[in-house]
Amino acid sequence: AKLVYDFTEGNKDLKDLLGGKGANLAEMTNLGLPVPPGFTITTEACKVYLDSGEEPAALRDEVSAHLVALEDKMGKKLGQADNPLLVSVRSGAKFSMPGMMDTVLNIGLSDRSVKGLAEQAGDERFAWDSYRRLIQMFGKTVLGVEGDLFEEALEAAKAAKKVTVDTELEAADLKKLVTKFKKIVKTEAGRDFPQDPREQMDLAIKAVFDSWNGDRAKLYRRQERIPHDLGTAVNVCSMVFGNLGPDSGTGVAFTRDPASGHQGVYGDYLQNAQGEDVVAGIRNTVPLAELEQIDKKSYDQLMQIMETLENHYKDLCDIEFTIERGQLWMLQTRVGKRTAGAAFRIATQLVDQGLIDETEALQRVNGAQLAQLMFPRFDEDAKVEKVGRGIAASPGAAVGKAVFDSYTAVKWSRSGEKVILVRRETNPDDLDGMIAAEGILTSRGGKTSHAAVVARGMGKTCVCGAEELEVDTKRRRMTVPGGHVVEEGDIISIDGSSGKVYLGEVPVVPSPVVEYFEGRMHAGANDADELVEAVHRIMAFADRKRRLRVRANADNAEDANRARRFGAQGIGLCRTEHMFLGDRRELVERLILADTDAEREESLKELLPLQKQDFVELFSAMDGLPVTVRLLDPPLHEFLPDITELSVRVALAESRKDPHENELRLLQAVHRLHEQNPMLGLRGVRLGLVIPGLFTMQVRAIAEAAAERKNAKGDPRAEIMIPLVGTVQELEIVREEADQVIAEVEAATGTQLKLAIGTMIELPRAALTAGQIAEAAEFFSFGTNDLTQTVWGFSRDDVEASFFTAYLEKGIFGVSPFETIDKDGVGSLVSAAVKAGRETRPDLKLGVCGEHGGDPESVHFFHEVGLDYVSCSPFRIPVARLEAGRAAT
Ligand code: PEP
Ligand code: MG
Repeated sequence: AKLVYDFTEGNKDLKDLLGGKGANLAEMTNLGLPVPPGFTITTEACKVYLDSGEEPAALRDEVSAHLVALEDKMGKKLGQADNPLLVSVRSGAKFSMPGMMDTVLNIGLSDRSVKGLAEQAGDERFAWDSYRRLIQMFGKTVLGVEGDLFEEALEAAKAAKKVTVDTELEAADLKKLVTKFKKIVKTEAGRDFPQDPREQMDLAIKAVFDSWNGDRAKLYRRQERIPHDLGTAVNVCSMVFGNLGPDSGTGVAFTRDPASGHQGVYGDYLQNAQGEDVVAGIRNTVPLAELEQIDKKSYDQLMQIMETLENHYKDLCDIEFTIERGQLWMLQTRVGKRTAGAAFRIATQLVDQGLIDETEALQRVNGAQLAQLMFPRFDEDAKVEKVGRGIAASPGAAVGKAVFDSYTAVKWSRSGEKVILVRRETNPDDLDGMIAAEGILTSRGGKTSHAAVVARGMGKTCVCGAEELEVDTKRRRMTVPGGHVVEEGDIISIDGSSGKVYLGEVPVVPSPVVEYFEGRMHAGANDADELVEAVHRIMAFADRKRRLRVRANADNAEDANRARRFGAQGIGLCRTEHMFLGDRRELVERLILADTDAEREESLKELLPLQKQDFVELFSAMDGLPVTVRLLDPPLHEFLPDITELSVRVALAESRKDPHENELRLLQAVHRLHEQNPMLGLRGVRLGLVIPGLFTMQVRAIAEAAAERKNAKGDPRAEIMIPLVGTVQELEIVREEADQVIAEVEAATGTQLKLAIGTMIELPRAALTAGQIAEAAEFFSFGTNDLTQTVWGFSRDDVEASFFTAYLEKGIFGVSPFETIDKDGVGSLVSAAVKAGRETRPDLKLGVCGEHGGDPESVHFFHEVGLDYVSCSPFRIPVARLEAGRAAT
């Protein structure tokens, strides 16, 4: 296969092969936009290299052919002494990994061609500055030289000259610096800086390939769930220079505000500088709008291009550009990252502009973003001390102890502390600390600085460029206006939506989106309401599209009411064990300890009206909608006191010769019921089969509650669900008893109840014999928590804290199977059971009530296998509705 594509050969749909950057450079080239010519080496070439340690055999020749074509187009040769072509070598994977991989600029400069460049540009200083940048970047990224060594030499040169910024160094100073840099390379790398331009290029290409497996890149991919086997493409692009004087410069821009979604002029510009200077946030940029004063022609052209790009991509784009002596060049574009709130706003704005339709709008947002918007925010009315304001780079309200380095951030967060990572600016080495922190605060850099871009990607709160704060990382403190000093460990609060920084802990309030779902807020005019309006509209799109119904896991009227406000279409799982706790525990204890039938029946009789009342409340909260009540599931010992505690109490009483008959009896019962593997023991349907009267009491409570609601002109739609069934015989026995009780209640109350009886499918055997089980079940609800536990043999209560980190690190799975359904294993059992169940009973109702019911990716799976509904916790309901809508597009 072809390993190298000219920019004129690719297009935006080839991201797998050309990476995001390469595909979009090609797209812009073909749109006729000013892109410096170049070519892209495919991810396939990278994959071969990473797998075998060697570049594919044909690569060298293909690169040569493309290089010759490029040289012809540019009318100069790579590194040619009198008029050198210079190129950049940049990484570019399918998914953007900001700052995680390598880039080398100015390839082609050497001791000879630096003079040619000086002449060609008419600027000796520029040529030597470009050369020293090449040696520095090449030394660091290709030859592995410690980057600080170059920085220190640069600082020393500035100090010697008593200047503070690099632009004040003159050609002669830079020439000396080049000599110094070459010495550093020689000592540290044990080889000379290569003078052969082609060797420079080939080594740089290899370094970019290698950077795919750098520690930073790997960590980032794990965090972002980017597969490790994609590889990166490499873009070789002819250089244009933003550092050729005041009529040159470089910048980044967004076609709309990535934080609010508003249209306008958003971006940063830096005069007389090269691209990396902006992204790294090293020097202070000016707002893009000021470019209009600096260079009106380029500014107008840029605005025009931005419009072209938005209309072409039909989405927010971000852009990197360079102006070389008044000529504008596009160096990169991509569909830009945005905050969760902006995603919703932009999607509806684009619908209003007629650029996209409702279906497409649903693809522009996702459940994770909606979940993020449901986080609480700071209470604006709280009495707080604001000490600074930076740029609102990534929304959220974060409170924590200030720490000033990544190492401490990680260490403290491991010991359970919430921390805010405070830095002057971040760089890729801070990634660990950023992950560990609740939020990130920097005193320098704009919306496109490293901190901002990475934090937005991680959905982490970030305030950047809070310039009034003097951050002193060496002494681990920062000074705020007025002179107050924040020491390491002092609590601060940062608001990523407003950019405000506060001393101390600011109280938080619910998000406007939650207020909206709760019905306490409606669309209006202010900023928060714009977001609410957008969410409202997108939810309507999703509800119109989705086939899956969404129910709630709820055990009481309060949760049921909230679920209903959030859009639940019923209850998919009411766990009755929650009704056996609290002050009813004593009754349950008596039931478990009963020596005689009479005693047991007595306690069941006392429990009955309590259970019934619970159901009356639940059915009235969910009037008109289905409520699936699951009969008691957990092992009985969960309702008894802790065995160790009780043993101590008994021993103590014994030694004191206190009366302790009851305790002793209890202890004996606890011993009797003790199980080595309670999750695989006496629980679920097994309880119903060995404890006479337990399930029938629950069924009676359900039936009587339904009858009462019916007689009160309500519309109860109860469904009775049997847990942990492994074979149809279990279900048949329970069912027979239940049918009898229901018939009794119907007769006694003169009602027709139509109570459906179904089962959970949460054991492999149940899934494997689903065809038989469906004979006795009117519905299935997949209990994917237990099903995952039993299919994998993973204890659901233990493994996430014990060895899952190791599994995730080793890439055995990218996400816990308890969080996102394991499609290949657990999922294939689910789909087989769906098929077999429906074969037996075509109108079998199918749902899921494990945690996966509220997980975005899993919702898509459940849509695909044809379930009728998902059931999840009340707060996940909007997420499930949205994802069910997205799954149906
Ligand atoms: C399940 O196992 O998926 C389930 C919903 O039941 P529980 O979590 O109560 O065991
Ligand atoms: Mg279960």
